[in-house]
Amino acid sequence: MAYASPPANESGADKPREECGVFGIHGHADAAALIALGLHALQHRGQEAAGIVTFEDGRFFSHRGPGNIADNFGDESVIRGLQGNIGIGHNRYSTTGETLARNIQPLFADLASGGFAIAHNGNLTNALTIRRKLVADGCLFQSTTDTEVLIHLIATSRAESLVERMVAALGQVEGAYSLAALHNDTLIGVRDPHGIRPLVLGRLENSHVLASETCALDIIGASYVRDIAPGEMILIDSDGVRTAHPFTPQPHRFCVFEYIYFARPDSTIEGRNVYESRKRIGIELARETHIPADIVVPVPDSGVPAALGYAEQSGIPYELGIIRNHYVGRTFIEPTERIRHLGVKLKHNANNEVIRDKRVVLVDDSIVRGTTSTKIVEMVRAAGARSVHMRIASPPTANSCFYGVDTPDRSELFAAQNTVEEMARIIGVDSLAFLSIDGLYRAMGETGRDPDSPGYCDACFTGDYPVRLTDLSGRKADGQLSFMTRLA
Ligand code: SF4
Repeated sequence: MAYASPPANESGADKPREECGVFGIHGHADAAALIALGLHALQHRGQEAAGIVTFEDGRFFSHRGPGNIADNFGDESVIRGLQGNIGIGHNRYSTTGETLARNIQPLFADLASGGFAIAHNGNLTNALTIRRKLVADGCLFQSTTDTEVLIHLIATSRAESLVERMVAALGQVEGAYSLAALHNDTLIGVRDPHGIRPLVLGRLENSHVLASETCALDIIGASYVRDIAPGEMILIDSDGVRTAHPFTPQPHRFCVFEYIYFARPDSTIEGRNVYESRKRIGIELARETHIPADIVVPVPDSGVPAALGYAEQSGIPYELGIIRNHYVGRTFIEPTERIRHLGVKLKHNANNEVIRDKRVVLVDDSIVRGTTSTKIVEMVRAAGARSVHMRIASPPTANSCFYGVDTPDRSELFAAQNTVEEMARIIGVDSLAFLSIDGLYRAMGETGRDPDSPGYCDACFTGDYPVRLTDLSGRKADGQLSFMTRLA
């Protein structure tokens, strides 16, 4: 993870972006190939860089590069070069629009006790503050990632074992982390005490697997064992699996946006299938925002499960009124307003015969900048819709994320700058409605949001950040913006 404070989303994308996926395996002869497959299943969590580190007979093997998994690991000789039956891998999405080679994970360091590789999903909210202290103490940083702070804290710890040093290091950081790490022949998984980002344990024959999502277990035929608990550290070596809970317990605050948009619909997180959750969100959305209409149309692909739920609950027929072109690469999504609009047209096309003369309920998962919604609505109107009613399967995204998801600065968030009425007018719909925060919690099986114990991180909707934003408040206090901008 790169420093994400303040959040960037400089690519101009109109969806928040998950920033990383991690995968690890212990005890399999085809470790590197299985890691590549696992990362392929997690490709939606980061497409800008990928890396794998393996270990055999006292030696580490590494391959890291920009691009997706196929770009980096499509060549069999690369996989063959990654020797050993233990390893970790990482998919990265860069917040800066460019991917510096030295930021590509897994990061690796030679410690006094041996080699150490680490792959991180999440974002540390006090990494800059710690980094400044470490630099003042003489530490030389190789990358601009928050993850490297962990390596230096581990390296400089006076504790005896690697595990104790890791615990001491993690005890100093704030924010979100799901980690897969490798120390010689030990595979280590850790989840932050709030459990903000996902991490699961799986089993393939006699080997153990760590992955961001269960879809990465499915692709290699591994069975799901359980989710790593918030604040849990898991150690896997030739003696089997050991577990520890070394951190002070904190309220569980898993990222609710994983269920809304980020995670793959075929994944199951903490006992909840993502697809089913999205459908239930659509059902709640229909209950709260029903309007007479002729068809329910999803904005594909992310709006599909919620639209199915909306149609089921409302009794309004579900139709594929917008078709998505799956062969559009990111090449087309350049960070200029004009090309961004062209990108929408390249990606989606209205199914004119389905839409003509219909009252359309258009369902999408979220609105970030509003640019995509405006073009989609324009397209649906041009196809002859009699009226367009937009329904959003989440509350208004009015706050930036600091825990590992790339969202624009608040000044660019559509819902932070406009009322619902203003948003409806700007995107050109006859009506616009969002799911309420209580409706979201009802869809997650609760009776509503308990403000004293929400159970999820929902800060991008509520502004209730579960972990303090030390770097951000430090920036406001001492004006270190230029330093941070340089780092980003
Ligand atoms: Fe998820 Fe939003 Fe919390 Fe970020 S702020 S972790 S996107 S719920």
